[in-house]
Amino acid sequence: MTASFYERYGIKTIINAAGPMTKLSGHVLSPEVREAMASAGAACARIEDLQEAAGELIARVTGAEAGYVTAGAAAGLTMSAAAAIAGLDLAAMDQLPDTAGLRNEIIVQRGHVTAYSHALRVSGAKLVDVGYVGYPGQGRTWPWQVEAAINDRTAAIFYSVGAMPGMVELPELVALAHRYDLPVIVDAAATLPPARNLQRFIAEGADLVCFSGGKALGGPQASGILAGRAELIASVALQHQDMDVETETWTWRTRYLENHVLPGPPHHGLGRPMKVGKEEIAGLMVALEQYVERDHQAEWQRWYAMLETIQESLADLPGVTVEIRMKQNEPEAVPVAQIGFDEVLLEMPVVEIVNRLMDGDPGIAVSQGFLQESAIGINPMVLQPGQEEIIANRIRTLVGSH
Ligand SMILES: *Cc1c(COP(=O)(O)O)cnc(C)c1O
Repeated sequence: MTASFYERYGIKTIINAAGPMTKLSGHVLSPEVREAMASAGAACARIEDLQEAAGELIARVTGAEAGYVTAGAAAGLTMSAAAAIAGLDLAAMDQLPDTAGLRNEIIVQRGHVTAYSHALRVSGAKLVDVGYVGYPGQGRTWPWQVEAAINDRTAAIFYSVGAMPGMVELPELVALAHRYDLPVIVDAAATLPPARNLQRFIAEGADLVCFSGGKALGGPQASGILAGRAELIASVALQHQDMDVETETWTWRTRYLENHVLPGPPHHGLGRPMKVGKEEIAGLMVALEQYVERDHQAEWQRWYAMLETIQESLADLPGVTVEIRMKQNEPEAVPVAQIGFDEVLLEMPVVEIVNRLMDGDPGIAVSQGFLQESAIGINPMVLQPGQEEIIANRIRTLVGSH
């Protein structure tokens, strides 16, 4: 089925040995996720009803008060910032991303400034970065540095999981933020596995937590999860919905108008260009349920066995070494095979190996995190059964043919 689309339009498929990266079109979808997307596409529903069903599922799985489906974790960050700035203030929603006169500062520890913090700024927020990096050694960040940056224009504090060491950890950051009645927004996009991270940051007190739907969860690539406090999620929903509505017939008239929570429906908000379709919501819901129900230990064993196959099959190749690496103190982290090449002996720079693997048909995409060490990485997360042998054979041919 999928192959026929790629064949029909002459698009080369790849074996994805780099993990569910956005550039490589994310994960391979399970048959159940594909079925959910197809069957959601076969009928129409009100988008609010889809989001509410998804929100209940996300809340149940994460332990948060509420949940929402965003167009990826990065979109979740933008929407989180918009919710922290505007709350349930219609005029503020209408004004964004212009934040003149609004509380628009988001405090970020310097070690948490990444290419993704740009997504916060899309809302109009201004990042205020504090502290130092370089731990251990030149610098770290202290709670008092975060506290000193808080003022009456502060809208939120941001935390990026797994960024740099030496930063104020989440529970302590939350305690500080909540003393000033400020929400903490957490970028947890790529923190799965372990699956328990779905609950961890909420349990540690975070107010809004974003996950990618298209990475480890195995959902549609352009989907993400936002979990958090009900009022902030309500603000996200109000700024994300298509607001082509009549006041008297608006789906949420009882909730917001009859109770005088809002003076009327908002207009199309900041999130409208980041819309999420029924197919993504459906695919994400099924992917999330499957992820939670999966035997993660068995999956880890399957990943490890594939890497061992590659290791054994390359063991006798001169100039090639294979080491299976695991993050220290993280037994559930995804194992990765680091394949090192003796560039002098093989007379081939490692980048040429990367390019020649990709140039074959199917292309093979490998992880490029070890290039400095003249090595490529094999991340097994997206590998389909049998692809480990194709990869090993291709490397043998490549190296043997020099
Ligand atoms: C991948 C990633 C994102 C973006 O997630 P999308 O779902 O692709 O939008 C944000 N932050 C971090 C740390 C990531 O790794």
